[in-house]
Amino acid sequence: MNSSNWIGGDWITPAKECLEVINPSQLTNQVGVLHLSDPEMALQAADAANKAQPGWGKLPSAKRGEYLFQVANLLMEHLEEVSLLASSEMGKPLGEMRGEVMRGIQILRYYAGEGVRANGSVIPANEANILQYTKRVPLGVVAIITPWNFPVAIPIWKIAPALICGNTIVWKPAETASLTATRLVQIFAEAQLPPGVLNLVIGVGSVVGTALLEKADLDGVSFTGSDVTGLRIAAACAQRNIKYQTEMGGKNAAIVLRDANLEKTIPQLLSGAFRSAGQKCTATSRIIVEENAYEPLLEGLSKSVSALKAGSALDETAYLGPVASKAQWEKVKAYGHLSEKDGEIIAQGSCSVDPTSGYFIAPKIVTGIPVEHALAQEEIFGPLAVILRARDFEASIELCNKTVYGLSASLYTQDLTKAMRFMEEAQAGLLKVNQETAGVEYQAPFGGMKLSSSHSREQGTSALEFYSQVKTCSVYF
Ligand code: NAP
Repeated sequence: MNSSNWIGGDWITPAKECLEVINPSQLTNQVGVLHLSDPEMALQAADAANKAQPGWGKLPSAKRGEYLFQVANLLMEHLEEVSLLASSEMGKPLGEMRGEVMRGIQILRYYAGEGVRANGSVIPANEANILQYTKRVPLGVVAIITPWNFPVAIPIWKIAPALICGNTIVWKPAETASLTATRLVQIFAEAQLPPGVLNLVIGVGSVVGTALLEKADLDGVSFTGSDVTGLRIAAACAQRNIKYQTEMGGKNAAIVLRDANLEKTIPQLLSGAFRSAGQKCTATSRIIVEENAYEPLLEGLSKSVSALKAGSALDETAYLGPVASKAQWEKVKAYGHLSEKDGEIIAQGSCSVDPTSGYFIAPKIVTGIPVEHALAQEEIFGPLAVILRARDFEASIELCNKTVYGLSASLYTQDLTKAMRFMEEAQAGLLKVNQETAGVEYQAPFGGMKLSSSHSREQGTSALEFYSQVKTCSVYF
């Protein structure tokens, strides 16, 4: 498959620069070709979005919802094919990828329904004969910049609320997920979305993204990705007074207290740490264990981790696939070497295939490192989790909060009082008790504290707040 841009309703394939897309599960397999855009093409896409916005914004939101329902139906028809493409492009196991596409369909339907729900409220006036009310209007044109690790769900959880609110879009997906992005936009095109309402620009972030942020006529930017890029985007938007939201990294902790049910806890720790090869912003990256539970947890984890196998993304029996790219592989391998040098590997899985045939990394758990160490502080974004020991509950909360990030955190306990204290004291936007750090339902707000987020929320009705602005209206009659 070849990538292509969709601008103003036309498919335009840039001719200058190409990149081969290699399957991370099988390095001899070329999945397709990326055609990289120049800055002018990004600006062309923003112009198309600006031209289309007034018409799209005036359409009744129920009508905009009908388009989203249609996209959901078409995506359902193409579920298997889109999942296969994404798995081959970025290595997420097929079963997980199907789940992600299903999530995308649910999100489309959820926001389609928002088209017929209230978009303001009546506020009592202090004088007679005045009707005072609020209404939401579109922001205008939004740039959506997405990462590769959820190549379908994250773009849809931005595109769907943006469209239902009446915005038009320029979407710049991650290079590593650009074929999937092209296929997804083909489905929006098949649903007869009017020209210019959604525009796709494939390219290098520092080229295309920079052109959008510095020169395009934009009203909003929604970004998900690393904190390094997110901070740059926030600074660029602040300079031009463009509304922005940045969802960034995490160093998520799962705290295991002495009264935790280990039989139920261990499978959740494994899933949180190693599903998607640890490449989730909400992945369990630190396991903080209360002293008395340390030995039994270690014993249980070593047994279970040794049984885990990394394999091809298309092998439905593999617990985890490869990491997504060569850059990811090199970065996670370097952290692996560091953990061998400075810590103690207490458990390690294996690969069910020749590890050199793809970007495979066996899952690992390391202990014996201080909390200030890079392994306990930096986002690894791979199948490597760190265990830290805590004297008691209070010390475990202290360790949990000892990070610049604040995306998600879990507590495993039977003690309701400690669970409620955890909800008060843990510094993270997503808090779970007796559940893994990853995963939040699409109708609930999603986002982090501290360096993980610029503090607005995605998903649910919270997303509508970002993609709209409020008018306060007062009528005297
Ligand atoms: P990334 O390198 O920051 O890239 C994210 C997006 O930004 C890509 O589309 C990238 O394009 C683009 N970009 C890069 N430099 C840019 C620039 N100067 N101007 C504008 N755009 C630019 O992140 P990633 O490696 O794709 O994703 C992994 C990160 O995402 C992790 O840190 C993870 O925690 C985070 N994440 C957070 C959440 C959340 O909701 N909090 C969810 C998922 C992932 P290129 O691909 O061309 O570089």
